[in-house]
Amino acid sequence: MKNNKHKLAEVISIVSHEFKTPLSAIKGYIEVLIAEDLGKLTVGQKDYLKDALENTHRMIELVHDLLDVSQIEQGKLELKPKPSNLENIIRKTIKEFLFVVRAKNCSISFKVLDKVPLLNIDPLKVKQVISNFISNAIRYSERKGDIEVFIKKKGNNVIFECNDNGIGIPKAEKKKIFTKFYRSEKAVIHATGGSGLGLFISKAIIKKSKGKIWFISKEDKGSSFYFSLPIKKYEK
Ligand code: ADP
Repeated sequence: MKNNKHKLAEVISIVSHEFKTPLSAIKGYIEVLIAEDLGKLTVGQKDYLKDALENTHRMIELVHDLLDVSQIEQGKLELKPKPSNLENIIRKTIKEFLFVVRAKNCSISFKVLDKVPLLNIDPLKVKQVISNFISNAIRYSERKGDIEVFIKKKGNNVIFECNDNGIGIPKAEKKKIFTKFYRSEKAVIHATGGSGLGLFISKAIIKKSKGKIWFISKEDKGSSFYFSLPIKKYEK
């Protein structure tokens, strides 16, 4: 049974790798066309190409997620920890989302409730978790979404919190939220874009970083997603 699981993960990994190059090529061609480097486009042509580009982005994201999942399934998820400034990582991530936040008429705030020292974490992987939390908060917002991000200290841990006032998670579905490919019925209706892999991957990253991940949520009221990471003292 274990062998089959590993074999399947290997196949997924190979296929996903094979998809990477042609998808990047398609993305490049579309970008050249949209930039009108090869000639002027009509508004209609440009709209179709923008749609094609957005879908290509989604496919590239899915391929990356599948590669992560296959690594996790094979027990090969690798972290590259180094002293990292969590506050800076969060600010950088929020900046990357500002365009979407504005486009969706949402707001986002960030408060540092306690200063935290450098953490021994893989900055890119932890950023991936933060991005997942924030993109979900935006994606599952209704009308004017207010997103609040906090960091605070508790004992020897730092806690990251992302609050939203979106669609929330029905009680009966809470147990399945970190399961691979799981998307709540409401989420599927509300936002077609997701893959149901983000939180599965986030959980694996946080667990491997010796932290914890959890959430509280009320249907139609909103959700708060959290992770904690250990604060380790550095010898000088
Ligand atoms: P995706 O968002 O791509 O579907 P995730 O693994 O990130 O996948 O999330 C899994 C599911 O958890 C979502 O489909 C949704 O049902 C639920 N979920 C996650 N974050 C939120 C949130 N902030 N508000 C409401 N539901 C959420």
